Amino acid sequence: MRVTPILCLRDNYAYLVQPNAGPEALIVDPSEAAPVLRAVRDAGPRIAAVLCTHHHWDHVGGVEELCARAGPIGVYGHSSERSRLPGLNQPLDDGSVFEAAGLSVTALHVPGHTRGSVAYRIEDAVFTGDTLFVAGCGRLFEGTATDMHSSLGRLASLPDQTLVYPGHEYTLNNLQFAAKLEPDNQRIRAKLDRVAEQRRRGKPTVPSSMGEERLTNPFLRVRENPIVRSVSGSLGPDPDDVAVFASVRAAKDRFQ
Ligand code: ZN
Ligand code: FE
Repeated sequence: MRVTPILCLRDNYAYLVQPNAGPEALIVDPSEAAPVLRAVRDAGPRIAAVLCTHHHWDHVGGVEELCARAGPIGVYGHSSERSRLPGLNQPLDDGSVFEAAGLSVTALHVPGHTRGSVAYRIEDAVFTGDTLFVAGCGRLFEGTATDMHSSLGRLASLPDQTLVYPGHEYTLNNLQFAAKLEPDNQRIRAKLDRVAEQRRRGKPTVPSSMGEERLTNPFLRVRENPIVRSVSGSLGPDPDDVAVFASVRAAKDRFQ
């Protein structure tokens, strides 16, 4: 399988996902049609399906135009997004498994950023939309801290080598925040240096791996002492994981 990130809008990633053999490919989160159509033209496959992680316009803005060009294709998303996801014709629930472009795809319902957010697992990759970013997580627009904490916990239970493909290029800012919470974490420091250099050269910082996320992403590390200490002033002794998570999320909302 080959995954090609397609930069859309300012900092969104759509993805072109191609099996090792065969004429078809999948598109994840087409924010806009033009850059996706360019990438498809360059690579040569036929679009077999569109996978949508959630209904926000910066993830699905190109769905209708892609469908108009590609003909009748499957547009996948969570069943609860039916009324607000343009073109959705393959509603999914948690654990739904389907075949598209010759690839087996598993849907994980991961509410928190939106009620109907979905992550897609394909082979050793997971497409996480605005739920899990490299070194960060999405804002709580429609869900609670409890929802997001448990959704991230499910993603974090995927094997270490799982490649993480998020919906945005937010890595540098996320790692600056992570380094502030855990100034002595050498892995965060090293990754921050590496990512700063990648961004200077205009390179994408995706994918990450789940193993690396568990070691560097503050939202997957709310049981670690430095993270607990960084927010405990406001929480009192022995805060529970969700309370720590909610505090870290609120601190990130204020961080620039
Ligand atoms: Zn979003
Ligand atoms: Fe987004």
